Amino acid sequence: MGTLYTDVALADGTGPELQLDMAILVEQDRIAWLGPASEAPTPGSGTEVVDASGTAVVPGMVDSHSHLTLPGGAHWIDRGFDPPEKLLEVAEHNARLMRSAGVRWARDVGSSVRVDPVDGGERALALGVRDRWRGHREYPYVRAAGTWVSRGGSLPSGLAAEVEDGDGLLRAVTRQLDDGADFVKLYLDGPDRDASPFTAAEVRRAVEAAHSRGAKVTAHSGTLVGARAGVEAGVDSLEHGFQLDREIVEKMAAQGTALVSTLAVLESWRTFGRTTTIDRFADPALASQIAARREWARESVRLAARAGVLIASGTDFGGGSLRANQLAWEIESLVSAGLEPWQALAAATRNGGQLLGEPEAGVIRQGGPADLVFVHGDPLSDPSALWRVWLVT
Ligand SMILES: [Zn+2]
Repeated sequence: MGTLYTDVALADGTGPELQLDMAILVEQDRIAWLGPASEAPTPGSGTEVVDASGTAVVPGMVDSHSHLTLPGGAHWIDRGFDPPEKLLEVAEHNARLMRSAGVRWARDVGSSVRVDPVDGGERALALGVRDRWRGHREYPYVRAAGTWVSRGGSLPSGLAAEVEDGDGLLRAVTRQLDDGADFVKLYLDGPDRDASPFTAAEVRRAVEAAHSRGAKVTAHSGTLVGARAGVEAGVDSLEHGFQLDREIVEKMAAQGTALVSTLAVLESWRTFGRTTTIDRFADPALASQIAARREWARESVRLAARAGVLIASGTDFGGGSLRANQLAWEIESLVSAGLEPWQALAAATRNGGQLLGEPEAGVIRQGGPADLVFVHGDPLSDPSALWRVWLVT
């Protein structure tokens, strides 16, 4: 029994060289054998041989910044107030979109607290979604953060957990873990863009509480002040990191704080300048503010890469404007910002696995899971190959 994929080129995100003329034997959803096609085991009578010639195979990708219950689009925040029944339908649709795009892992970094229409519990909706999808191969593997933990006034009221001080922060973090969150998501943009919503000491107390329960803490960071407080407090990762400087990235590298890039969010806002009449995107003055944010965000990624920070990548689909099948856009954006294509592929595969502490995520190795994506083109010289998906196993 099994399936032998022959004559495939391998791009696993570990280096810049495409390995040609490879073969992969899959048995019971695991990679039973991987190596040069000329040395492949002779297929038994029960083995299906698939001519994969002309394709490159990459690991099932890891979207390290996703919001499974939300659809994205130019009104992405409004959609968070849709009824929970609708949001669960959205999640089902997102699962199909992800799979067809070769994205096998979702790190969900925030969903609204609602009464779950299926199990009746009141907690962040993505937690129930995660539990129901577990063990079903057609769905992505999910690790979920619970809801956003924010300072009141930072996000539209009714989306996130809103707290007023360090004690509230600690309680909300504890609540997410009690509800079953795999890790914790703090929101370090405040109502005042020029001030961190929490002090580093307040964040540190929350980080220590989560760590004592074996959970990591990540922080949404769109501003320099929030990034500084989060990194000083020892968060495990920054999301977006749109405004970093040299001092921050050096500290991140030294203490092992990862960056989860979401550059394509800003690219999508640029497209909305043409496809919508929404002032925020179409008004020339506001569009030029977006352009300035984009420049700093791209520079932040370069600084982080140069400093040796672990970079994972995500779409921010749902919680931002992208859709669930657009991780290739982020990989292209990273290359456009200055990463080598293989580094950008690593960000969307193995680095995501490292961030999650999941050795089976985003890798191709003998004995590992057969989460494979076959594309047309060489993703190590041209990231747009990742849009051209033929087959996802
Ligand atoms: Zn997000």
